Amino acid sequence: MVPPTQLIAAFVFLFGLIIGSFLNVCISRLPKGKSVVRPSSRCPRCGKSIRPYDNIPVLSYFFLAGKCRACKMRISPVYPAVELLTALLFLACYAVFGNSVETIKWTAFCAILVVLIFTDWRERLLPDTVNFTGLAIGLVVSFFVRPDDGTALWIANRLFEFPPPMPVISFADALIGAIVGGGLLWLVGEGYFRLRGREGMGFGDVKMMLMAGAFLGLRRTILTILLGSVLGAILGAIFILSSRKGSDYELPFGTFLGAAALLVVFFGTPVVTWYQSLFVMR
Ligand SMILES: [Zn+2]
Repeated sequence: MVPPTQLIAAFVFLFGLIIGSFLNVCISRLPKGKSVVRPSSRCPRCGKSIRPYDNIPVLSYFFLAGKCRACKMRISPVYPAVELLTALLFLACYAVFGNSVETIKWTAFCAILVVLIFTDWRERLLPDTVNFTGLAIGLVVSFFVRPDDGTALWIANRLFEFPPPMPVISFADALIGAIVGGGLLWLVGEGYFRLRGREGMGFGDVKMMLMAGAFLGLRRTILTILLGSVLGAILGAIFILSSRKGSDYELPFGTFLGAAALLVVFFGTPVVTWYQSLFVMR
């Protein structure tokens, strides 16, 4: 008998591979404004539709030795990488959050981030469809999870004698996170525009953090923006120095923010708790 947790973990991993395969479709089609449902996947060169047995996540890439069956065009290794990454993130969510609504919330967030990380990296685009669908999911799912940011509860305790029910607190945390996340990025963008007289980042980053804030809440949103900026500065400097592209090269800030958000989901709690301990009991 296989213990049920291992069985569920295997199922979560397989489910992640299948969703990762769908995210690949989203990554290649959404920036072009195409439907993710129709038509079925085709080779971009010869136009032959990909047979179901050649569309098995990760495995097909290796069976086909990374080439189209019909025309032998090289298939990007990004495809199996996205599938594997999604499966590992889903597995990590299950490992950290267990059998809970939180697992559903964070797997959805990871899937959204995977799409944004790759569309911004490849095309410098953060599609509205992803940002706004994500924002809606983040706000709705907040009613079903326990609030753990503490900001809304802190405010409610000062405003009301009896704090509102937990779903309302949780929803307020999501709203605060969204407003602060979108607002901070908008301010940074405005400042950059005033300073240098040209657009430093697209409005896509603002909408991305509006969405991410709804999932993360105030503290994790601020941590994500800080970490994303540090990652962007370090990796951006390395990239600009090591390549011949000038300092005008547009960095995929959404990719850094997305990577930062993933790190905050899995490793942010100790930082948030430590930060909180600086203020409590003084
Ligand atoms: Zn082909």
